[in-house]
Amino acid sequence: MSSVETIHVDGVWRGAASGRTREVLDPADATVLAVVSEAGADDADAAVAAAHRAFDGGAGVWPRTPVAQRADLLRQVADLLQRDREAIALTESRDTGKTLEEGRIDVDCVTDAFRYFADLVVGEGAGRVVDAGTPEVHSVVVYEPVGVCALITPWNYPLLQASWKIAPALAAGNTFVIKPSEVTPLSTVHLIRLLAEAGLPDGVANLVTGAGDPAGARLAEHPHVDMVSFTGGLASGTAVGRAAVTGVKKVALELGGKNPNVVFADACETEEDFDAAVDQALNAAFIHSGQVCSAGSRLIVEESLRERFVTELARRAEKIRLGRGTVKGVECGPLVSAAQLAKTEAYVASALAEGAELRTGGTRPEPSDIRPESGYFYAPTVLDRCHREMTVVREETFGPILTVETFRTEDEAVALANDTEYGLAGAVWTKDVARGRRVAGRLRHGTVWINDFHPYLPQAEWGGFGKSGIGRELGPAGLAEYREPKHVYQNLAPRAVRWFAG
Ligand code: NAD
Repeated sequence: MSSVETIHVDGVWRGAASGRTREVLDPADATVLAVVSEAGADDADAAVAAAHRAFDGGAGVWPRTPVAQRADLLRQVADLLQRDREAIALTESRDTGKTLEEGRIDVDCVTDAFRYFADLVVGEGAGRVVDAGTPEVHSVVVYEPVGVCALITPWNYPLLQASWKIAPALAAGNTFVIKPSEVTPLSTVHLIRLLAEAGLPDGVANLVTGAGDPAGARLAEHPHVDMVSFTGGLASGTAVGRAAVTGVKKVALELGGKNPNVVFADACETEEDFDAAVDQALNAAFIHSGQVCSAGSRLIVEESLRERFVTELARRAEKIRLGRGTVKGVECGPLVSAAQLAKTEAYVASALAEGAELRTGGTRPEPSDIRPESGYFYAPTVLDRCHREMTVVREETFGPILTVETFRTEDEAVALANDTEYGLAGAVWTKDVARGRRVAGRLRHGTVWINDFHPYLPQAEWGGFGKSGIGRELGPAGLAEYREPKHVYQNLAPRAVRWFAG
């Protein structure tokens, strides 16, 4: 495969029908990392046609492949991912800017997702018997694949987000076309090669590398696509959702978050507890330079603790070592693109104009700190004395920006934490076990951590309340998204019912 043949249709690697290509940039220095094919609507059509044939046509073996065999293939993919762990981690690090160690963790999480869905689909079996209330009826609910799935993924966790869709889609017997973000397509190309190596039949897994519009938009509206699973921002997710609903397709949307990290003073009574809460607040906000859908970008801290907590947080944020993600010792890489950098700068400027107090950051690091200087670096930024009317508090910045708000009572803390149109994730820090559970129970977010931030489990559903999306990934619900339950009611003793007398 040459560097520009990154479209995969019916088992064949090819370039775009138009011959167009796109340069993929290294965010650490804005140099060209790779050149990929730039798919258009016609390439998306070809990929959907292949997935449609593989599902429905004579070659449609995958939906009818026994569940145990599908699970075996997923496990084989997991083994291949581990075989290529270092190479994929390096690709992910260079493409997204994240550190190499984060890249390795991503590959391990991707591996876990494949193994989890292999086990789950076998464990759940083919369906269930339903008691019809009479021995003359045999009634079962069986799980069937939805059909052709369009999978559209973002740039922050390219391979991880792909795996949360591909693994359950394949486990359930679907065929698919995936469109990774045009900013970070490289690790998905690698994964598609591994699926072929594991023996997945041609046409089951198809890939188009290209822009959201036209390639992604065409997938979302295509009449032969039965389901669209999208992870990305609110604006594009809304467009995808609209197209899917117009075509009456199943749709799953994993969108953004504006995630609160609520810290009660009693969480910091000892030095050790204080250190843990500050450390995790730092991690919550700044890992992967804040480009995380569940980033704890809103610190909501009890007023009496604010000065001590924010002072220590800012001191530590200032010491975060920025640099190229592949360099040993670097703790944070660059932002993914010039656009993301510009967006971050604009959010900080608006916050300062609206009265926020800059405690650290707010700058692009000096060229002497970061080489090469043309990369998209931005210093971890702590903005104190923020309030709910500020744009930076309301909108997902998706950059290394932490805002600080304060509360005096538990009710106030809950009200602030829920005061967002999103509802993806949030945390509460307290030594009071009852309060921890009480507050967790009142938070309108899809994941709530008590005295922690960021961990997720493949066995537990991931997704959001409110505008954080529709549907769930991971867990049993993450598999159910890719299945159509079918009720088969068999009358063992048919006779006339005589509803009509004539
Ligand atoms: P994005 O919305 O710009 O792009 C996501 C994907 O959608 C890309 O592949 C893009 O090409 C495609 N796309 C864009 N416009 C489209 C259109 N009109 N039709 C079809 N496809 C289109 O998002 P991004 O900037 O790549 O990623 C960041 C966003 O993703 C953030 O909002 C983040 O919170 C969200 N995200 C959410 C989760 C989650 O689990 N909820 C996980 C990761 C990222």
